[in-house]
Amino acid sequence: MDIIKYRKDAESFLYKVDKEHYLHFSGQKDSINISGIYDEYKYLFSRKNIDYIKNIKDKSTSKEKKKAAYLLKFCTEGYIERQVKDLIDKIAEDEAQAKIDIEGRKVPFRYSEILMVNEPDKIKRDRIEDNRSKKIAESFNDTLYTYWDTLHRKAVDLGFSNYSELFSYLKEEDFYSLQAKMERLLNETQDLYEKHFTSLLERELGICLKDSRRSDFSFIKRAKKYDRFFKKDNLIPIFTDALFEMGIDISRYGNIHLDVEERENKSPRAFCCTPKVPEEIYLVIMPGGGQDDYEAMLHEGGHSLHFGSTSSKLDFEYRCLGDNAVTEGYAFCMEQLMKNRQWLVDFLKMSPELAREFVYFSNLVKLWFCRRYAGKLKYELTLHNGKPIDGKDSIYKEILSDVNLMEYPEENYLRDVDGGFYCTNYIRAWIFQSQLKEYMYRKFDYNWYKKKKAGLFLKELWSYGQKYSASEVLSQLDFKSLDISYLIDSLIDEIRNF
Ligand SMILES: [Zn+2]
Repeated sequence: MDIIKYRKDAESFLYKVDKEHYLHFSGQKDSINISGIYDEYKYLFSRKNIDYIKNIKDKSTSKEKKKAAYLLKFCTEGYIERQVKDLIDKIAEDEAQAKIDIEGRKVPFRYSEILMVNEPDKIKRDRIEDNRSKKIAESFNDTLYTYWDTLHRKAVDLGFSNYSELFSYLKEEDFYSLQAKMERLLNETQDLYEKHFTSLLERELGICLKDSRRSDFSFIKRAKKYDRFFKKDNLIPIFTDALFEMGIDISRYGNIHLDVEERENKSPRAFCCTPKVPEEIYLVIMPGGGQDDYEAMLHEGGHSLHFGSTSSKLDFEYRCLGDNAVTEGYAFCMEQLMKNRQWLVDFLKMSPELAREFVYFSNLVKLWFCRRYAGKLKYELTLHNGKPIDGKDSIYKEILSDVNLMEYPEENYLRDVDGGFYCTNYIRAWIFQSQLKEYMYRKFDYNWYKKKKAGLFLKELWSYGQKYSASEVLSQLDFKSLDISYLIDSLIDEIRNF
């Protein structure tokens, strides 16, 4: 095996896959042909290559070992995904073509999510959610079942006891120890969560927490009452100005393409595509206005800046592979601006009192998400434990409804799943970001976002791509390791102090 050629081809495979994703999910191409790309690069993902790279990993030390570990994850993930390549296309295309009935109108399934989160009438909102769930059960779940079942079987074929064990090995992470940490978060925030969400739901929707659904949270998160501060047309200028203040001129990043055009089949959720790091990065958003839109823009903007600032001199493994908790952490770091009272006053012209209220609200939303991901990790460890998938829909509903104290539709049990335990990247990223925030407050103060030095500091961190894992970056900043106490304390303080 020629490892130099392997890296080169792997990079061009990723280029084609990411470009295809970009075109499809930005609504510029109805079909999606991931399967054809897998066919073209079939040789990358063979058992022989897995063994070859594993051998390099086992025999080498330090830098070479780490690069081999990143490459082994790429190769093995590609190997099992290749077996379901046609299903990947089918899942995306079925979803793009699906329509559901809302008030007698046929509405694209993807767009119905926007209608649901904007629907103020609970009865109508519940009906949209029920129709979505019905569609998922009738049209998507059979394919998703085959998809997960095949991946589970492939993990066993590779000699692992189940899919969880395979990914724990590839990511070099102990999922159970992370789950134990998240159990601590759940316990320590339980009373606070219940108390504050009970009053939030009563205040905003006039309903009891026990009668609420996940879709009610989506509506609350949309937070229309703050819309006047989050106008659609101001989104890009505020984003650009905020970066400019910290010395980052995004207009000079010829490699970051902002796609803000409205298209019917564009994914309503903002996303970032990185076909070529750092040369070709897409920041895709369908601006609708609203606080969650701004938050998504800052989050995806964080990814774009991270990969767009990555040094082109780094090896392929460090630019394109590695620990994704790092990029998620940088995305959360930008998103965190929405939880900075002074930033809201400076950039969104909120009054100090309103900014205080908004920060409280925004931290409640974050707490909801942290608890949801604690539940997701617990559920995904069950889904991928090697036992049959049948019957796990009720386990999904029970675990997720239990952490958020809101009813989740069980039909989502195969769809609301992050492949390859991506959920642990978000969890570690929240922890990483709360420690990074602590560091930046100490070094640059609460208004770090106004300091060119803080911008330079971030640019330096970004330039390393994903060469260092989240824990390694933290150890360079004098922390011992990832420590969940920072995340728990910050959530509790921000909510209690209101
Ligand atoms: Zn992200």
